[in-house]
Amino acid sequence: MIRIGPAGIPLSCKGRTNKDGLVYTREFLDLNAMEVQFVRGLYVMEDEEAQFMKDYAFENDVELHVHAPYYINLAGGTEEVDLSLDKILFSAKLADKMGAKSVVLHPGYYGDQSPKKTMKKIVKNIKKLHSSLKKEKIKVKLGIETMGKQKVFGTLDEVIEICKNVKEVFPVIGLGHIHARTNGGLKKREDFEEIFEKLKPLRLKHFLIHVTGVLYENGNEYYHIPIKKGDMPLAPIIEIILDNNYDVTFISESPLLEHDAVYIKLQVEKAIMKRTGREEADFRDLSEIL
Ligand SMILES: [Zn+2]
Repeated sequence: MIRIGPAGIPLSCKGRTNKDGLVYTREFLDLNAMEVQFVRGLYVMEDEEAQFMKDYAFENDVELHVHAPYYINLAGGTEEVDLSLDKILFSAKLADKMGAKSVVLHPGYYGDQSPKKTMKKIVKNIKKLHSSLKKEKIKVKLGIETMGKQKVFGTLDEVIEICKNVKEVFPVIGLGHIHARTNGGLKKREDFEEIFEKLKPLRLKHFLIHVTGVLYENGNEYYHIPIKKGDMPLAPIIEIILDNNYDVTFISESPLLEHDAVYIKLQVEKAIMKRTGREEADFRDLSEIL
C-alpha cells in the first residue's frame, strides 16, 4: 500500500482550516494521506473539527498524522523538558481525537552534552511520554524524526536506537534531512537500501517517509526546496518500495507542498507503468505488479 499526502493544508486550498485542507487533499488532489501541522506553537482545534477530521478520514480512507510543535527539547533542562512533554502530550490528545495514527516529533538538541548523554536523556523522556500516553489511553504512536543538522540530535542511527529502547515508538524517515546530514548521501539505489537495511531490526510494518528537496552544505540543511530543484532522486526509493511491496506513507514537506505530493504520485505511477507496460496507473493499485 502506498499513501501520499501533504504536510499541512495545501497552499492552493482557499479554506485555511485543517478540515478544509483534508477535504481538498482527498477530493481535489486525489491523495490519501495528510500530516496535520501543529508546528507553530500550540494549535487549538475544536472538538467538532477533530471529530469531522476523524469521520471524514475514516469514510474516505485518508491516513492522518500530526506533527508536534518544532520547538521541543527532550534533552534540555527540567523546565524545557516539562514544557516539551506538555506540547507533545497536547498534540497527541488532539491527534487521538482526530483518529490520527501518529504524532511526529523532533527529539531535541545536544547542546554541550555528549551524544551519549543526550541519547540517555531523550530515551528517558520518551519512555515517560509513552507511559503518559498509556495512562490516558491514547493510542497514537510517537514518531521520532531524523534531523538534518549536525548540532541537532537525530541521525538515522540515533533515531533507530531510541526505537530499540522504547516500545511502540517508530522512526520517521526524513529523506531530505538524511540527505543533508550525510552531505548528499542519498543518490544511488544502494544509498536508500542502506536505510531499509538499518531499519530491519525494528521489524516495521509501515514506513512514514518525509520527502522534500533540500539545500545543504557541510552536512547541514539550510532550506527545504522543491523536489526537482534538489539533488536527491526519488526513482531509486520508489523502485525499492515496489520491489519489496513495502507499506509506506509519503508526506511532502516541500515548499511546493501539494504540488510535490502530486509529483511523488506521478513518479510512483510512472514506475508502475514501466512495470505493467500500460499507459495508465493508479498509485493505490499495485495488484498488477505484485
Ligand atoms: Zn519534522
